[in-house]
Amino acid sequence: MVACQARAAPGRKAGAACAAAGAVWQRGAVTDSAPLDVDLALLGGGGAASLLLAALDRHGVRDLRIAVVDPVRRRGQDRTWAFWGDPSADLDPLLSASWRQVEVATPARRRVLDLTPLRYAMLRSGPVYDRAAEAERRLDAIRIVAPAEAVTDDGARVVVRTGDGRVVRAGWVLDSRPRPPARAGRTIWLQHFRGWWLESDRPAFDPRRAVLMDFRTPQPARGVSFGYVLPVSDRYALVEYTEFSPGLLTDAGYDRALVDYRDLLGLDPAGLRVREVENGVIPMTDAPFAARPSARVVRLGTAGGATRPSTGFTFSAMYRQADQVARALAAGQPPVPKPAYPARHRWMDAVALRALDRGGVGGPEFFDRLFDRNPPERVLRFLDGVTTPAEEIAIMNSTRLLPMIAATAGDAAHRVRDRLRPARPAPAIPAAVVGGPLRPVSDAET
Ligand SMILES: Cc1cc2nc3c(=O)[nH]c(=O)nc-3n(C[C@H](O)[C@H](O)[C@H](O)COP(=O)(O)OP(=O)(O)OC[C@H]3O[C@@H](n4cnc5c(N)ncnc54)[C@H](O)[C@@H]3O)c2cc1C
Repeated sequence: MVACQARAAPGRKAGAACAAAGAVWQRGAVTDSAPLDVDLALLGGGGAASLLLAALDRHGVRDLRIAVVDPVRRRGQDRTWAFWGDPSADLDPLLSASWRQVEVATPARRRVLDLTPLRYAMLRSGPVYDRAAEAERRLDAIRIVAPAEAVTDDGARVVVRTGDGRVVRAGWVLDSRPRPPARAGRTIWLQHFRGWWLESDRPAFDPRRAVLMDFRTPQPARGVSFGYVLPVSDRYALVEYTEFSPGLLTDAGYDRALVDYRDLLGLDPAGLRVREVENGVIPMTDAPFAARPSARVVRLGTAGGATRPSTGFTFSAMYRQADQVARALAAGQPPVPKPAYPARHRWMDAVALRALDRGGVGGPEFFDRLFDRNPPERVLRFLDGVTTPAEEIAIMNSTRLLPMIAATAGDAAHRVRDRLRPARPAPAIPAAVVGGPLRPVSDAET
């Protein structure tokens, strides 16, 4: 048998191209010496790739030769995705919880928002990875458990060399490996957080509503902090402390912040146990992520710009783009999604980040006004990047005018300076600070 070398022309299904060529391709026949020919190589098998595999399966794509290259086979609960949207037949069976009501709290007030017709939802990674593994099996994809290293695109196909010496030749590469932005941004912040999955002996949480953002936490000198609570029952919840700021805390710093937030919530440490810990770092920057670094390489997920600069939310854009790519492939089109966010949203985010970073606007005040002066549905759809220009004008009108004008002018001047001087490389996104083994909640206070 020979491996099929036919490549998909845009508008033509790749698998069909192979069939038309009368060739047969080998599944799983990867040796160190023989290159593996595939239609699609997924580099990275995390969130974006898992959603893509599930979408390919959902859209009935069956005739593509697919390879997934990742040194790690993702399984289990390594992260929790929170997102909002319409209830969906696809995702709802996988959710751990969803809420029609959420709370946004500032030192000035606590407001309960009714999200109808949307809902805020919590999806743990385990069911997403399981579904992707099932899709991978049905798609007959080949898994290579090694890092992708050199990626060379000659415009007709892409050659990928893996860390274990293999060569994959792909019609298209969908690359979601972590990558820094193409160049440094004007504002370079991080969203960094630690969450505790807390189990309580007694009813301690209200499972009817989530706390979306609680700005009553002490605010950092430069940046924004908030806590949140995602309850799955009255005795079990994810309680998280998050900062939007330039640098990370120490291990003890995250624990201290979580203990303080637990106390702010009035939770009794004596009856609580930390069952799991989640740590994360997400870029929040107006730096550009290269979504299409070469003709046949498409970046997805955080590396492709799916992380919203002003919030760090990524899931909805990843899901949207996975669906677009799968639809395109099912129709025999090139697997190129729309940009994760419209350019005008990226500009508004750049201005908002600048205003927050340069101290023109306080974080709690900024979000307070946003939720005060707009229906929650509008704010949430804006944060997902799916509002109309008219809605965006209403959103802009709800922010304080003078600091936003100053940030807009500063952003424009900075863009001009950027054009005149050589681009600076973007700093690498640091790894999350991971603590030691699980301890009882009260131990963390020492
Ligand atoms: C703990 C945590 C919680 C989050 N919660 C939310 C949330 O609530 N809502 C939200 O919208 N977003 C959230 N995010 C942000 C975002 O949704 C996730 O980071 C998401 O997993 C991004 O998907 P991705 O595919 O871009 O990256 P990842 O899921 O990180 O996948 C990247 C993959 O690339 C692989 N890889 C690395 N190097 C190589 C290599 N050389 N070759 C091949 N593969 C390689 C890795 O092993 C990994 O599997 C969270 C992030 C974290 C870390």
